[in-house]
Amino acid sequence: MKENIFGRDIHECEALMVRFGEARYRGKQLFQWIYEKKCEDFNEMTNFSSSLRKKLSDQYDLFHSKIETTQADPHDGTKKYLIELEDHQYIEAVLMHYGHGASLCVSTQVGCNMGCKFCASTKGGKIRDLSAGEILDQIYLVEKKEKLRISNVVIMGIGEPLENYHEVVKFIRIANSGFGIGQRKISLSTCGIIPGIEALAEEDLQINLAISLHSVFPDRRKTLMPIAKRYDFELLMDACKAYFTKTGRRITYEYALIDGYNDRDEDIVELIRLLKGSQNHLNLIGLNEIQETSLKESTRMNYFLGELARQGINVTMRRKMGREIDAACGQLRKKRYEDKVSV
Ligand code: SAH
Repeated sequence: MKENIFGRDIHECEALMVRFGEARYRGKQLFQWIYEKKCEDFNEMTNFSSSLRKKLSDQYDLFHSKIETTQADPHDGTKKYLIELEDHQYIEAVLMHYGHGASLCVSTQVGCNMGCKFCASTKGGKIRDLSAGEILDQIYLVEKKEKLRISNVVIMGIGEPLENYHEVVKFIRIANSGFGIGQRKISLSTCGIIPGIEALAEEDLQINLAISLHSVFPDRRKTLMPIAKRYDFELLMDACKAYFTKTGRRITYEYALIDGYNDRDEDIVELIRLLKGSQNHLNLIGLNEIQETSLKESTRMNYFLGELARQGINVTMRRKMGREIDAACGQLRKKRYEDKVSV
């Protein structure tokens, strides 16, 4: 089987050309054909000789995954894509339209091992990591299908990005230098993998880092998010502080309000204690209820927003998108696997 060239970074493209006996700058041209011009065939690479094009196509593929199903929310235009990978695994990507352009939420793993109680993506565990090319492909496929340019990327789909660190960082660099998506328009969300946060701080990237907080009480957080047993809460907060000091990029904390669990008055008090005086930002999220748990969406979102804002906390509420299309992470994929089992 030929190797896929999609997903190679600039250094790999250059090395490949040098191996072919070509000048190094040909690697940059190849990179531009793949990502800037989104070529579908080596024959479109018109500044390469026909013998070079033939050598490339003899040895390499320009393979892409396939969009299997699309679901659109009739109210807000949010679209969810079920994508079939080369090995017939499935992932999801979600397209959202905001005032500032088209935003795509991408997956980084097939399934997830983190085990968060409220999340549908983790119910079957992790099958494998995605390669940088498979993450890039989500942008490529949606741009081609919808004939639009993605201006923002949120790494908040299925999977824990910092558990697939090298491919995710490679993805970010190619999305930026190849697809031309500004680093400040890329957000990465983690459940709090401390070594990953520390490594990311050293990468010299201008991306936005989001931490899934969901409770400021360590024991409650451990119940919701098993990963919190591995990484101590105080140490996580220290890693976030260090990240901000090193990068100058303020952190976003994500907080899905769950009825009776993390929406109590004492949660407000602790959130204020944690965030007051910091530059960080709190994003309140409405819980997407999933079948596997009895956790319910809180009705106190507006109250939380008002109280926290009154105390000077930098707080916003995430607009809920795609309410009608199983928009919570992993639900469409889960259904696809269940359908397969039942046939
Ligand atoms: N593993 C990463 C990124 C994927 S999840 C992380 O944990 O951050 C992206 C975001 O969606 C996280 O903040 C996660 O906690 C949240 N999320 C997952 N399931 C949800 C649900 N049912 N309702 C609301 N938010 C959810």
